[in-house]
Amino acid sequence: MSDSERLKALLYSAEPPTPEQRRRFERFIELHYKERCYFVWIRDMNTVDGFRLEVGSDVYDWSSRGILKQLTDKLRSVRPAEGQEVIPLLKQAVDEFEPQPYPEEIGTVITVGDGVAAVRGINRASYGEILIFEGGVRGMVQNISKGELGCVLFDGDDSVSAGSRVHRTGRAAGVPVGESFIGRVTDALGVPIDGKGEILPSGYLPVESPAPSIAARQPVNKPLKTGLLCIDSMFPIGRGQRELIIGDRQTGKTAIAVDTILNQKDSGVICIYVAIGQKASSVRRLVGTLEEHGAMDYTIVMLASASDSAPMQYIAPYAGCAMAEYFMNQGKDVLIIYDDLSKHAVAYRSLSLVLGRSPGREAYPGDVFYLHSRLLERSAHLSAAHGGGSMTALPIVETLAGNVSAYIPTNIISITDGQIFLDSALFRSGQRPAVNVGLSVSRVGGDAMTPCLKAAAGSLRLELAQYREMKVFTQFSNYLDDEMQKNLRFGETLMGILKQEQYRPYEEWKQVFILTAAIEGLLEGFVGDRFGDKLDRLCRKFGESRPDIVERIESGAKLSERDAADIAEFARAAGNV
Ligand code: ATP
Ligand code: MG
Repeated sequence: MSDSERLKALLYSAEPPTPEQRRRFERFIELHYKERCYFVWIRDMNTVDGFRLEVGSDVYDWSSRGILKQLTDKLRSVRPAEGQEVIPLLKQAVDEFEPQPYPEEIGTVITVGDGVAAVRGINRASYGEILIFEGGVRGMVQNISKGELGCVLFDGDDSVSAGSRVHRTGRAAGVPVGESFIGRVTDALGVPIDGKGEILPSGYLPVESPAPSIAARQPVNKPLKTGLLCIDSMFPIGRGQRELIIGDRQTGKTAIAVDTILNQKDSGVICIYVAIGQKASSVRRLVGTLEEHGAMDYTIVMLASASDSAPMQYIAPYAGCAMAEYFMNQGKDVLIIYDDLSKHAVAYRSLSLVLGRSPGREAYPGDVFYLHSRLLERSAHLSAAHGGGSMTALPIVETLAGNVSAYIPTNIISITDGQIFLDSALFRSGQRPAVNVGLSVSRVGGDAMTPCLKAAAGSLRLELAQYREMKVFTQFSNYLDDEMQKNLRFGETLMGILKQEQYRPYEEWKQVFILTAAIEGLLEGFVGDRFGDKLDRLCRKFGESRPDIVERIESGAKLSERDAADIAEFARAAGNV
């Protein structure tokens, strides 16, 4: 066997090993690798107090630095149980510490560019594992082929070059999680970016984790109120549901998400807003709005902005989901917003193309469906045995010219439990939120609707459908009889009550009051003004004069016939003034 075919062992130290030490190293290698090696000593002034041995891609570090690293790792892995003191555990870890000759796998960068590095020499890394490059740059294994790894870099590739060394960490990509993140703004890996100092995490969770099984789930049966009349009355969302918000650019998609967050005040729901590929300045504004309305007290914002690398944008929603899982697994209710998944798919496409994967439809890689299904499947309403927590997801998708049959929109429509479709023509005409009632659905939320609201909303969708039909019909006729004009006016009033200003969520009693009165045809004089102030004043007056009805509605009881009649009576009297 020639030297080049034999296992190569490199020994680094400041002083040459004594013959006895050399024999001991050779014996160690024979014992571990079951073959004789070709042994080379290299003078290394950085390894003054000990030895570093490299066998193939394995590295054994017997220098004081290596031993210190082992000790640090051991101390870091100490996890006290609930109520246990940490100091004695640390003492025990130090007492029991014995440096072990365990290999650290080290590879070499072959090529690097566009935020992706090809690495050779690491044979045991797994998909999704974090690698550390020279200069502390973190990367994640995304492609595994024979003898070579494709790795995406999180921190830019400036300090990485061909020939750089790469360490394995043995850990899958993860994010720090914990209560202390509430009220903070972080990047996609949980590092604070709001200038409010360090965050002390309670734990560390992998960004990718399997979705809860069927047995661990229970049906969606509790409402998650958005405070928006047009959604709560016709497309109710339940806790644990995934409801897509879809529409062209600038149609109020983010506005719906923000209003929903604002409405979670005092409901105990923790909100997580994941911004993907957006301008940092617009997210800054959004955080300002949330702060202004006191919503940051229960909200976490995670940002991978348009200027962040594609890997950061790719990982952001999974990281947000891991954060949400932390709370869900404690039995809490969480609302998570992915704004938006079209940009996420685009980031994944650029990443895949640079990794050399073959492009499919619209140049997206073949697994782009799985990209979003494995993310959205992690939303759930857990069974009581699993703590009963829930994760409600509101993914947002941007369409081009209202085309819902494009690749990414159809994929996500098929994964979610319904969609709120926002129409740019409605938005322009001033009907805001611009929900297209005909194209929107909510497949599971109806079960979670409170009986009171269900009864009040009764025939609303049907009435609106009739109105739309009649409107089309009357466009071609110039004679309208009284009956038709009355029906048109009624339809317009219904559309009018659905208009709602931003940041003004309605309580349930308000929704029930408006719906009951509107379906009776009593609100004609109260809609149509720009900010909905007339309707708002009417509601306030009703709230003041009938607190008993308000209380009964808020307690979740069914609306009695008596109360419905009183509401109608009140609206009629107000309209006649
Ligand atoms: P983008 O595609 O840029 O993300 P978007 O679909 O998220 O846009 P928003 O940013 O939510 O849309 O809203 C666009 C504009 O419409 C904003 O200026 C917002 O203030 C306004 N707007 C949204 N909803 C309403 C509403 N209900 N009433 C009045 N104005 C609204
Ligand atoms: Mg938006």
